[in-house]
Amino acid sequence: MQSRFDIAIIGGGAAGTLAALQCLRQAHAPLRIALFETAPRLGEGVAYSTTQPEHLLNVPTGRMSALPDRPDDFLDWFAMRPGHGDTAREALARGFAPRREYAHYLRDRLQQARQASPATLEVVPARIDTLQRDGDGWTLRWTEGQAGAQRVLLAVGNAARPLPARGAGGLARPRLLDAWDYAGIAAIAADAEVCIVGTGLSMVDAVMTLAANGHRGRIHLLSRHALLPLAHSPGHQVDETLQVEALHPLGVRARLHRLRRQVRDAASCGLPWQAVMEALRPHVQSLWRSLPAAEQRRFLRHAVRYWDIHRHRIAPSVQAVIGNLLDRGQLHLHAARLDMAVAGQRCVQLTAHTRGRRTLALDVEHVVNATGVEMRVQAMRNPLLEQLLGDGHARRGAHGIGLASDAQGRLLDAQGHAQDDLRVVGSLRIGEAWESIAVPELRVQAEAVARGWLAGQPRPVES
Ligand SMILES: Cc1cc2nc3c(=O)[nH]c(=O)nc-3n(C[C@H](O)[C@H](O)[C@H](O)COP(=O)(O)OP(=O)(O)OC[C@H]3O[C@@H](n4cnc5c(N)ncnc54)[C@H](O)[C@@H]3O)c2cc1C
Repeated sequence: MQSRFDIAIIGGGAAGTLAALQCLRQAHAPLRIALFETAPRLGEGVAYSTTQPEHLLNVPTGRMSALPDRPDDFLDWFAMRPGHGDTAREALARGFAPRREYAHYLRDRLQQARQASPATLEVVPARIDTLQRDGDGWTLRWTEGQAGAQRVLLAVGNAARPLPARGAGGLARPRLLDAWDYAGIAAIAADAEVCIVGTGLSMVDAVMTLAANGHRGRIHLLSRHALLPLAHSPGHQVDETLQVEALHPLGVRARLHRLRRQVRDAASCGLPWQAVMEALRPHVQSLWRSLPAAEQRRFLRHAVRYWDIHRHRIAPSVQAVIGNLLDRGQLHLHAARLDMAVAGQRCVQLTAHTRGRRTLALDVEHVVNATGVEMRVQAMRNPLLEQLLGDGHARRGAHGIGLASDAQGRLLDAQGHAQDDLRVVGSLRIGEAWESIAVPELRVQAEAVARGWLAGQPRPVES
């Protein structure tokens, strides 16, 4: 007989673990919850599986709580870790913890919730291939088995983009490395010449590992606009004077114009531009939703790269390492589009073109794909998502990115009907919410999904 669960969560990265935690916390009755994940440890996924100490969170410790109702929870946990006894709490809150700590924290909190909950959580080491409606919910199938569930949550997370170059299909590890292949990057010889394609946060991770290993060889950074992530300001101030409501009726251009003015006014009061971004941050979803589709497209076409470097910021200490490597001439930044990557005898030959149509040819020992997160769902190469789209249980999100869902994360089927028993958390909600990848959003989504499903359950009678 197949197992039948009240709730099945597909994916045990940070988002799925947060959702399991919330279902356990909010259960008042003995529910059966299943979490499907093949990775050996929960909570890691792509971001938190790194073991490298130089990979820091890009959100300050004081803002990484897993629990919306206990904003200092991660700070409290981190302060108890060995070695922090003498660090002032305020300094810890403003600092950036190593990312590897975060999955430990999530697992600790999950374990506590399991002990305190009337619900049970079963972790099933399986990768779900298909999801079909049955009489009473859903049937989940994987290579060796199947199970039923009344409600299903998709928390399948982030997929990497393939290297966008002709010939890349003929390259293999270790010549071509993924920036999320942390062990592969750490094994690069210190004198190797390396090209990192993409100049966002994944590039930063790769450079930090090379720097930590005393890399001496030349490192090329290549992207079309050659824009590097900017740093957080040390004080994390918030510009309280920002009138977010005034931005809602405006289009993209007018909003940017208004924000530039706000930055100038903030500067005259001694506040850095980051303080304006901090004030904007909690409102990004409502600002996105209030843009007409044509304006959202305009943002994606013209503004997204500039948005990304201002929004996804790095720790000042990390920026100092990158700045130092640039100043020393070891990092070479190229504004160019990669066209071709082919294997040579002992190297990879790269051909790129600059905006002025100049050809850039590089021979390197390793090319690192740091082009980041794939947002187009049909390009994610996840068979489960392809099946859901093919069978009409899901449809592509706005602008072809993520899956279409409503503001509660209910997946829209091919006819546009919101399905209460099939929900989604995380970056697949990008088309609907735009800001839907970092922990401050994931914890809210996880809490809301659990509340949506469990709020009506009967509470035990107090004796
Ligand atoms: C390198 C990097 C650094 C980041 N740093 C930060 C940070 O410092 N702070 C912050 O707030 N955010 C950060 N982020 C954002 C980050 O995406 C989220 O914080 C979080 O890790 C996303 O978790 P997730 O569970 O949605 O996705 P993922 O981490 O991608 O996890 C998804 C999981 O689902 C599983 N899965 C997929 N398909 C199936 C299937 N069919 N069946 C079963 N399991 C499946 C996968 O095995 C995987 O474990 C970072 C992101 C990246 C990529």
